[in-house]
Amino acid sequence: MEYAIGIDLGGTNLRLARVDREGRISSRRQVKTAQFHSSPELIDGISREARALIREAEHAGDRVLGAGIGVPGGVNPEGEIVYFLTNFPSGRDIPMRRLLEEKIGCRTRMGNDANIWAYGEGWLGAGRGRKNLVLITLGTGVGGGIIIDGKIHAGHSGIAGEVGHITIEPEGSPCGCGGRGCLETIAAAGGFIRLAQEQLDRGKPSLLSRSEEFKPLSALNVFRAAQKGDQVASEVLNRVGRALGIGISIVINVLNPEIIILGGGVAEARELFTPSMVEEIKLRAFSQKGKETQVVPPLLGEDAGILGAARLIFQIDE
Ligand SMILES: [Zn+2]
Repeated sequence: MEYAIGIDLGGTNLRLARVDREGRISSRRQVKTAQFHSSPELIDGISREARALIREAEHAGDRVLGAGIGVPGGVNPEGEIVYFLTNFPSGRDIPMRRLLEEKIGCRTRMGNDANIWAYGEGWLGAGRGRKNLVLITLGTGVGGGIIIDGKIHAGHSGIAGEVGHITIEPEGSPCGCGGRGCLETIAAAGGFIRLAQEQLDRGKPSLLSRSEEFKPLSALNVFRAAQKGDQVASEVLNRVGRALGIGISIVINVLNPEIIILGGGVAEARELFTPSMVEEIKLRAFSQKGKETQVVPPLLGEDAGILGAARLIFQIDE
């Protein structure tokens, strides 16, 4: 059999597996990323784990075609250089693809994690059989990946898909990027907390301040309070939905994707924010065609990263 090694470097876990051409996953490995304190340690650690998988495959008489990896951070469009890694003390402008390839000892391809997730979902998940899609992840931040004509669209310098930094409120809250009122300041976990706190500071009555059951203030507790019909929490979900609808309409109007895949931990609250999100999309997306764009949940869960990374290797020969 022929395999690729799919590698998903996350803020908490480094996950690797063997993947065959049909996308079947075997021989998973997982280690904590907190043990790596510098980029050389990180590269050594990734290579060690990948080599262990390759040895195991070769021992069984199988062939490994290469290793693909998705990394959290800025990657140049050629997939050679990591400008920076989010949540890692890793330095800047690391030629990570080449360093990994030398240490792993087989051909290696690299991309930004959200792009790779989109590529995985496009291969075997919610975007299967579709050539144009955008994946948006809602978590501690808001990320995105774009697939056009079946290929990752990384843009001129690799920053395409930064949906989280679409301006929703020009005079809104400061964002980590240096801007103001970005989608991420509203629709990421921190946005839920900030919007709820603003209401509570105005003295609005809410389960979030009244009941110990809903403390501490967190995105999860805002969802739970909204499910109980709490007005402050419901208003937060409503605003998140509107902000997402505005951001997604811009994505639809610029790229005209076949579907939008909306994932990440915060998207678990989709039933609560979807009505206001869809209302904004119907209002703002261009033409009947744009308004009909479906927003769907992902299907692959955490495996999207491993599968998308492995596909980087299989597509070399396609
Ligand atoms: Zn921003």
